[in-house]
Amino acid sequence: MSLSWKWFTEYQTHGSAHMHGIKRTIHSDKSRFQEIDVVESEEYGRMLILDGKVQSTVRDEYIYHEALVQPAMVAHPSTRDVLILGGGEGATLREALKHHSVKAVVMVDIDRRVVEISREFVPELSSGAFEDPRVELVIGDGRKYVEGCTRKFDVVIIDLTDPQEGGPGAMLYTKEFYAMLWGILKQDGVIVTQATSTYYSDYCFATILKTVGSVFQKAGGYHVWVPSYDSTWGIVYGSKGPDPHGLVGGFEEEADRKGVKSLRYLDDKTYQALFALPKDLVEKIRQWERIATDANPTFMPV
Ligand code: SAM
Repeated sequence: MSLSWKWFTEYQTHGSAHMHGIKRTIHSDKSRFQEIDVVESEEYGRMLILDGKVQSTVRDEYIYHEALVQPAMVAHPSTRDVLILGGGEGATLREALKHHSVKAVVMVDIDRRVVEISREFVPELSSGAFEDPRVELVIGDGRKYVEGCTRKFDVVIIDLTDPQEGGPGAMLYTKEFYAMLWGILKQDGVIVTQATSTYYSDYCFATILKTVGSVFQKAGGYHVWVPSYDSTWGIVYGSKGPDPHGLVGGFEEEADRKGVKSLRYLDDKTYQALFALPKDLVEKIRQWERIATDANPTFMPV
């Protein structure tokens, strides 16, 4: 069999990787912050890759983005003001805007080029979300924005690149940062963050969960299988009020009540499955004591 594509290799650890057949490169760039590639892959269609890490593919992005955004937003009694940190391709924004109760979304991404390139070369990820009049796009560091923020939010969604040593997102996974987020949440406010692989970096997921739990009385974690990430992907929340876990068995009804209709992945069965963490991971979390701080942050293996 002759293959007419090249191979892109994404490493999960030094000893494990996922290879993607690439038919052509659509656009390559290097911004002040990262290398940005959009490629046409054989299996997943167009893919956004930052610093060699797959961020979103047109074929399976909805799995990750629905799982990141909807549990916190559907659990919240009535989300009006939303803050998104990162999420440059606009798919997290698209999910948040599905809620008619939302009046304003501030999205803060450090890299203007990721937003521009995604809008030009993979517009289906944002599906027009950047043109929505409820959206304010801020180009800047998410941590600096939160430090100087005088507004209050119902839900804060943290969709940053992984905590990699030297990467732009590493200092947005620490106890000090989560304490700042607590301060800009309204009563009943919820934060939710991507929390890396629950297999290849289970220690990172456990650390983020324990760190959020050191600031918020209610904290929890769940995960979802994302084919293009080749892993179950962890998501962690901290809440002043509602607990997304409480929606097990009633997710569809509540999503429907909030006017959120066009979901492709989440229904009552898949929602329940999010919270079914395997026994060995639950045991690891139970025993885990490490908390990430500014002085001692947590990092992915590669
Ligand atoms: N969950 C996705 C993943 O890791 O596969 C994240 C996707 S999203 C494209 C990540 C975004 O975070 C990028 O657009 C990047 O520019 C942004 N980002 C990284 N560090 C940031 C920071 N300190 N403040 C704001 N945005 C940041």
